[in-house]
Amino acid sequence: SIPAKKVAQWKYTTCNYCSTGCSIEIGLDENQKLVTSRGHAGADVNRGKLCIKGLLEHDLFNSPGRGTEPLIRDKHFHPFEQTSWDNALDTTAEQIKKIQKQYGRDAFAIISTGQLLTEEFYTLGKLARGCIGTNNYDGNTTLCMASAVSGYKRSFGSDGPPGCYDDFEHTHCLMAFGSNLPEQHPIIYWRLKEALEKRKFPLIVVDPRVTMLAQFADIHLPITPGTDCVLINAMLHVIINEGLQDQAYIDAHTQGFEEVKALVQDYDPKTAQHICGIDEDKIRTVARLYAKAPAAMSIWTMGINQSTHGSDGVANINNLNLITGNIGKPGGTSLSITGQCNAMGTREWSSCSGLPGYRYLENETDRQEIADFWGIDPEFFPKKRGLAETDIFPAIETGEIKGLWIVATNPMTSMPNTGRIRKALEKLDFLVVQDVYQDVEMNQYAHVYLPAAVWAEKQGCHTNTERRVNLIDNALPPFANAKPDFWIFNQLAKRFENGKRIHFPDQPEQAFEEMKQLSKGRNAYGKERTLDISGMSYEKIIQARGIQWPYRESDTGLKGAPRLYTDGKFQTASGKANLLPIKFVNNNEQPCQQYPFWLNSGRVVEHFHTRTRTGKIGNCNKFSPTPYMEMNPDAALELGVEHQSYVRLTSRRGDAVVMVQLTHRVPRNMVFIPFHFHDCVNRLTLGLLDPHSRQPAFKQCSVRIEAVDQQ
Ligand code: SF4
Repeated sequence: SIPAKKVAQWKYTTCNYCSTGCSIEIGLDENQKLVTSRGHAGADVNRGKLCIKGLLEHDLFNSPGRGTEPLIRDKHFHPFEQTSWDNALDTTAEQIKKIQKQYGRDAFAIISTGQLLTEEFYTLGKLARGCIGTNNYDGNTTLCMASAVSGYKRSFGSDGPPGCYDDFEHTHCLMAFGSNLPEQHPIIYWRLKEALEKRKFPLIVVDPRVTMLAQFADIHLPITPGTDCVLINAMLHVIINEGLQDQAYIDAHTQGFEEVKALVQDYDPKTAQHICGIDEDKIRTVARLYAKAPAAMSIWTMGINQSTHGSDGVANINNLNLITGNIGKPGGTSLSITGQCNAMGTREWSSCSGLPGYRYLENETDRQEIADFWGIDPEFFPKKRGLAETDIFPAIETGEIKGLWIVATNPMTSMPNTGRIRKALEKLDFLVVQDVYQDVEMNQYAHVYLPAAVWAEKQGCHTNTERRVNLIDNALPPFANAKPDFWIFNQLAKRFENGKRIHFPDQPEQAFEEMKQLSKGRNAYGKERTLDISGMSYEKIIQARGIQWPYRESDTGLKGAPRLYTDGKFQTASGKANLLPIKFVNNNEQPCQQYPFWLNSGRVVEHFHTRTRTGKIGNCNKFSPTPYMEMNPDAALELGVEHQSYVRLTSRRGDAVVMVQLTHRVPRNMVFIPFHFHDCVNRLTLGLLDPHSRQPAFKQCSVRIEAVDQQ
């Protein structure tokens, strides 16, 4: 660590890793070199604390492999050559137009991320939807949060997590589904721990693995993978049959109760226990605890979302909270813990799944509003959403998509069945990669590489898990000849016909003003928009160290709205929330004689996503340098596998060799591997998709294991 006295200047920013949204100050020495990071003591979110990734975030600026200049190569894949920005952007625009002219507008696809700034997402959406005009535009958020988005829309009529971290301080019972806060969101965990220390309340953790959070739980429910809907239906069976539901809330604010009541009669805990693996007495205990608590809340992350039933899982968690009257009140909520730092920003403003500001391509009023605002013909927009990221790669395989632009994401490690992704990338006529680092894996297949500035070299906002908009504010100039993504999108837009009609502001703050205008007013159902940021400004955001939306023009003070739906009015046509009967269909790959183990994947505290950044930061990488597989000692004994020996895992998709760590964290029939590492767990995973969200079931496939002599 650097003594504070060596710091000549502290600059305010927001962490660019997870969605907790910690406020950071980064310290520059007298030569304007970044030397340290510290948590901002006055920030509501983190109150001065940071996790290991945040504490070391300044090391990113001196990490190897940064892109310095645009690069270009010919179609024969000779080595990259340095080129000018003009040539790189001209070539990109020409290739996009050529592909679209020959094969149609949707033959060029775009995959972005949850890690840009919100103004950049808005500008990319404008470019993708308004200028390039492809309908095959999506973010990597399909791999992490799409099921939460889909479930919220189905239940409440709109995306947007209704709760906040302060709810920990008011709740009387917390149920965490497939969420390992101490490792994935350490500062949210710290907030929860503080609340638990002040005021004891039951912590129930549903997870097939004994995660760190499960170790601290009052009740751990080691569920059979992919069966969360069965557990929740069985809880609802108990709650409704024992009359523990909040009937007044159900009658006033929901629709569909009778259908849910009828369906859950088939989920008596006596029978459900054989599907979900949780003893019937425990199901009854948690159902009663949850329903009788004056306020109860649920949180979840990838354990729910990354499933063939992800969207249904979210809708069923919402059912549980609506039926017990736990939406919109302090300590009573359905809070999805988002993954990436600005996954929320891309959900709100990027247009991946529709149009900006929670507007939909399927809705004529929404199309007309955006077309009028941008000054283009509404007929330019498609009338329904195109392909998700997980459907774009199969469309490359079939030749439907010929060109691809990948912005700040690494599908060669993050997608399921990566062998298939590699083959798809080889088939492209044109690939452009835009990233902070030039040594990213996709550059093996790229024709053009665009070097991007890293987060604190730019200006713009993030939205965190609890809808808090916070600012990143040009702490440093961009490295070498790298450019902010905002600039890259603007410059490319000028090379398209509609780019001359649509106004693309020069500064992020001007784009923010456009977003404020679009956030006001009423949605297509005549309901006041929840995603209203019209009262915010960069100055107010900095002063408040983040403001939660909705924050309307008429709002005074610097506090936004901690909760949504406090008046019981939802974003549906009737204004009532939808209770949805969720029937369980067992469609996952299951362990069998040939592939007898469940393969589960997840994350470690030191790394973020596919290690393109944390893999280059000294201490993050030193503490977690290599992939490993957690295996139960009893299973290892049967197979003759020893601690720290190597094994080969084989699935129906591929194989991988990995070192064994013996632990009782996993049951006898399951192994666990962190997903961050290249050429490892996602060589094995299955691309089965949730039908609503198109999110893959990363955590539920089967493998066989054999000892190998050495790596
Ligand atoms: Fe950054 Fe998340 Fe760690 Fe906070 S908890 S410092 S946002 S990685």
